[in-house]
Formats: sequence, structure tokens, C-alpha cells
Amino acid sequence: MHNLCDTHTHTLFSRHAYSTIEECVRAAAERGLELLGATDHYSSMLYPEANGIHDLRNYQYFLNYDIWPRTWHGVRVLHGCEADIVDLEGRLFGHDVAVEHGLDGRVLSKPTTLKERVFRGCDYVVASVHNADFARGATTEQLNQLYIGALDDPKVLMLGHVGRTGLPFDVDTVLRAAKARGKLIEINEHSLMGQWSDRAMARCRQIAQRCAELGVGIAVNTDAHIATDIGRFDNAHALLEDLGFPEHLVATRSADAFMEALETAGIPYEA
Ligand SMILES: [Zn+2]
Ligand SMILES: [Zn+2]
Repeated sequence: MHNLCDTHTHTLFSRHAYSTIEECVRAAAERGLELLGATDHYSSMLYPEANGIHDLRNYQYFLNYDIWPRTWHGVRVLHGCEADIVDLEGRLFGHDVAVEHGLDGRVLSKPTTLKERVFRGCDYVVASVHNADFARGATTEQLNQLYIGALDDPKVLMLGHVGRTGLPFDVDTVLRAAKARGKLIEINEHSLMGQWSDRAMARCRQIAQRCAELGVGIAVNTDAHIATDIGRFDNAHALLEDLGFPEHLVATRSADAFMEALETAGIPYEA
């Protein structure tokens, strides 16, 4: 199994992660990866203010991505975020937060939302559920819509760790929706590392198997929160090999394949 991209990883800017971007890129190079995607949390878990007064200044590390080298230590580097899905419509964190001032306090000529402002500089977005409280007691249809709504966001390329989250959505419905939009389902190494419930593990396996059977593209990622975890896909690879997973569906098999997946998803890439 080839997997030369790691497209869901975290740096210091996720606050409970520990490596700088340079350390992550270096680790990717040492592991022989062709492409690294940095996707720090964009979520209410970062700052207590985010539950009340949202402030663009807390998210400014997303706003200066332009200065990152596109190739660094020989690794192609993409930058995005892991955005929390926050309601049953599949809307993403900050969609309802008005931004009227720039970082320097000047009034913006065109007011925007926190989500739009952060997404502007992102090459792509991983959409995930972390705190699932809002979805407790929801129907299967509502849970399907939660993920389909997120897939409909133009910048969302993939759904993050859908097996681990534990929401009982209908797998085939959501997988088919991803396929119809040319988007990806993530197979997340961190979800397969054994500390989660047997049910979550079985769910991840079921999702991978149905992706293979329905011809849905996947992204195999570590979700690394420290540089030493980047590019280590042992459990995900064991699962996919056990299932005889077709390699052509693995969008992270090479940098070229991943860039093609961005295009298929209709996400414009600006070098
Ligand atoms: Zn995290
Ligand atoms: Zn993550």
C-alpha cells in the first residue's frame, strides 16, 4: 500500500499539539512523504472566547498561509484546517460569526464571516465532529444531512474520522453523497490505534469496506498531533490490506493523486 501524503495533521496552533510546521515538514521528508497537509483545528475547542465573543485575532495563524513555501525540505506543503461541524445542517464553525474588523482593527469595506475569512486562505478543509452533543437523539436522516451539508461546503474536501465519532448515520447514504460530489472519506490512523471502543473500530472497518465496494475515494491520514507521528499509517494500512482495498481509490497514494482529488472536488488550487 502506497501512501505518500499525510493530509490531516496538527501543529502547535491546535494548542494540544506539540510541533512546529517546520518540524512536521522535516518529519514528512524523513518518512519519505511527497506531500504534507497541515490542518489545525478550527473549532470552539481552541479558545474559551469562542463560546461567546469570537475574535478574528484568535485565528490569525490561518490568515498568513501565503508566506509558507509550497515546497519545503523537498515536500509539497498544503495548508488548510480541520473545521468542526456544529449543527444538524452540517454548517461549520464560525459560519454565523460576523467579522467587521481586520486584524489591525480597521473596519472592513466588505464584512464577512469568521468561517469565510479563515477558509479563504485554506487549500482545503477537513470537516469533523468533535463535540457531538448537538446531534444526540437526532434521527438517521438528520445525521446523514449533517455530513452531507458539510460535504456541500465548497472548501470541504473530506469528512474527518467519521467512524470514531460514533454517530449512527447511514454509511451508504453519506458515502454515496461524497462520491457524487467527488469528495473523500478519511481513514484515520489515530482512530485505529486501539484506544477507542470495539464499536468504533468495527465502524471504521465497515466504512472502509463500503468505500471499496461503492468506489468512494478515501484519504488515509494520521491526524498526527506531534511530528513523530507523521507518516505512520501502520493500523490503517493493515486494515486496508486486509480488505484488499483498491489502491486507485486512495487519493493520498501520491502527491499527483491528491492534487487530482482537489480538482475532482472542484476546489481551486492557487500555487
Ligand atoms: Zn486534536
Ligand atoms: Zn485532527
